[in-house]
Amino acid sequence: MQALLTEIAETAAAEADRGKVATYISELAGIDPGQFGIAVATADGRLFSAGDADVPFSIQSVSKVFALALALGRVGEQIWRRVGREPSGLSFDSVLLLERENGIPRNPFINAGALVATDTYLATSSPREALGQLLQFIRAAADDDGIHINETVAQSEISTAHRNFSLAHYLASFDNLHAPVDQVIGTYSHQCAVEMTCRQLAMAGRFLVDAPKMPGLVSVERRRRINALMMTCGHYDGSGDFAFRVGMPGKSGVGGGILVISPSRASIAVWSPGLNRYGNSKLGTEAMQTFSHRTGWSVFGVPHRGAER
Ligand code: GLN
Repeated sequence: MQALLTEIAETAAAEADRGKVATYISELAGIDPGQFGIAVATADGRLFSAGDADVPFSIQSVSKVFALALALGRVGEQIWRRVGREPSGLSFDSVLLLERENGIPRNPFINAGALVATDTYLATSSPREALGQLLQFIRAAADDDGIHINETVAQSEISTAHRNFSLAHYLASFDNLHAPVDQVIGTYSHQCAVEMTCRQLAMAGRFLVDAPKMPGLVSVERRRRINALMMTCGHYDGSGDFAFRVGMPGKSGVGGGILVISPSRASIAVWSPGLNRYGNSKLGTEAMQTFSHRTGWSVFGVPHRGAER
């Protein structure tokens, strides 16, 4: 495993075409696209890493996995009255389907659905308490109290969150947002501004791995369902392509991070800030394709020797 990760990090370091860093959140625009990190937390309790695996980055939409787990813990299956479980086939911030589908977002991993999840875990607490609970969940999952929210990144996102405000108002107009729009956007933007290293994120994802030593923060049934949603919706309109290339549940963020779960084996975090046309990490996706091919960890089976990538 260590040799494979080192090789993957070396290949990534040498890559010239690294994708484009997100610029619509000004704090993310200046991040050096030359970075790449990967970490693997295995079911037997080991942690491997290579490259810039100790550099903190903004997890952005990877946070939607933790937010969904928290929201499910709060209201259980009732959340599915307010958000669907189908891929949207559209970009993460699209408003297109909301009008046609009466303010019920397609899934909890596009922005509109994530705003509903945030509204759900915000329902009975103040934004400060709600964010405290979210951080507590992530810290417990990662077994690391050093994980925090980058306030500058949060404020930077809020100052240009025109799309998210419009999504939130749209949801509110259909009565599918209960807290005030400002509070939901404020809480959501802070949630996205959680900062972690690859090593911390790989550790935090262990609650989605089915093995005795993993933190039991959600029920078996919920873990399976969250993994299913990551597979079908975790990469927006690039979800089909990620499943095709990698064959494991994954959730991406515009900070360039991806959390990937091998359901009974490991939690994997990869990070490289340059994005592909879907807004998912370009080198992160390519690295995971190699990783999946070499380990045979696709949930769809092991490739034959010499099979095409
Ligand atoms: N905070 C970002 C946004 O709402 C998250 C998007 C993403 O990571 N895809 O635009």
